[in-house]
Amino acid sequence: MSQVTDLSTHPVSIKTAMPGPLAQAEIARQKPSMSPSLIHCYPLMVKRASGCMVEDLDGNVLLDVQAGVATASTGHCHPKVAEAVKKQVDTLIHICGTDFFYPGYGELCDRLNKLAPHNDAGWQTFLSNSGTEAVEAAIKLARYHTGRSQLIAFRGGFHGRSLGSLSLTASKPKYRKGFGPLTPGTHHVEYGDWQAIERLFQTTVPAQEVAAIVVEPVQGEGGYIVPPVSFLQNLRAICDEHGILLVYDEVQSGMGRTGKMFAAEHFGVRPDIITLAKGIASGMPLGAMMARKEIMTWPGGSHGSTCGGNPVCIAAALATLDLLEGGLVQNAAVVGDAYKQMLSETLTGQPGIQEVRGVGLMIGVEFTSHAIADGVANLCYERGLLVLECGTKSIRMSPPLIFTREQAIVAHGIFTQACKDVASKLA
Ligand code: PLP
Repeated sequence: MSQVTDLSTHPVSIKTAMPGPLAQAEIARQKPSMSPSLIHCYPLMVKRASGCMVEDLDGNVLLDVQAGVATASTGHCHPKVAEAVKKQVDTLIHICGTDFFYPGYGELCDRLNKLAPHNDAGWQTFLSNSGTEAVEAAIKLARYHTGRSQLIAFRGGFHGRSLGSLSLTASKPKYRKGFGPLTPGTHHVEYGDWQAIERLFQTTVPAQEVAAIVVEPVQGEGGYIVPPVSFLQNLRAICDEHGILLVYDEVQSGMGRTGKMFAAEHFGVRPDIITLAKGIASGMPLGAMMARKEIMTWPGGSHGSTCGGNPVCIAAALATLDLLEGGLVQNAAVVGDAYKQMLSETLTGQPGIQEVRGVGLMIGVEFTSHAIADGVANLCYERGLLVLECGTKSIRMSPPLIFTREQAIVAHGIFTQACKDVASKLA
């Protein structure tokens, strides 16, 4: 098998039926050892990845417009991120940020705090290993600070899979089935329906017992839904009236994904707590829970993590921030707009298509049925474009923020042709 040398500039190239024979054999060998809870949405065995390109075991090269579920923000194996990680592993891999100080931890917190929307009041940051841990930290801090127990979240929301965050997650029944009882006192209303919260207060949930409203400013897993500004404005007003904390879960929408560092910036509505992960360290495991200083009232020992904010992930995050601030957030805005426009122009009104939506490089296409979404996702994979499904009948595209206009044209070609081919069969 010939070795592709510069993978990041390699064109899409599918040489075998997907999956190829080597991938098939390796998957058959490995899968029995793995937890059957893993989804494995495609039988893809990735050998290596660079930029926006992924190469499988059989030498097929695919264009990745999902970025490891919106995580490889600077592209796969960005040389600057890789260099920072390599340098750090020769210096200090671990000492435990809960118990000791080391260079980088405070610097990353400081940089995030300064970037936080409405940072006039000052922010402080706790570092975790993942998004779900950032959300757990947010739940704990909100309860601790307010002395209240109840939480409000939204249908379609995804906040993680550990028991606290899972109690907030309401995007698919399979995530919750068999795992109850979940955290008591967690209530859900329709995404966008702030008035439903007022109705909860009038019927079942005393407002003065609610610690936090947890919301994705742009809903991710639930379908890449951009709400009207008035939704978040009304949530803020409800929180202000009743002394409730407003938590933005920006695990998916943050770190430049929407063409601004935080999706919150599109709405001009101040949150009290923000959770981050995914793109923050280009794929190294890191999460962050940021809160306004006056809310961070928990004392030493009340929360911590053995590996959260470990030096290697921090090195990756600092290099990632340099790249995001050095032009990638701006690129997400410009190329994202262009890509969404291309998709809208070709797909709007076509058979099987419900809507093209999104902001920056967080773009969703909703179909008229789940079967069409599923068919399009699989055909894209067979033809060399990696996308992911979301919601009940949508496909999400969240490429690395280095995504170029030329790559957008290639992705648009494969995606829209797959839409036509599937719709002509199924619509
Ligand atoms: N919050 C949101 C908005 C997410 O999209 C996700 C993951 O998809 C999470 C939390 C959980 O993050 P992790 O998988 O890193 O635990």
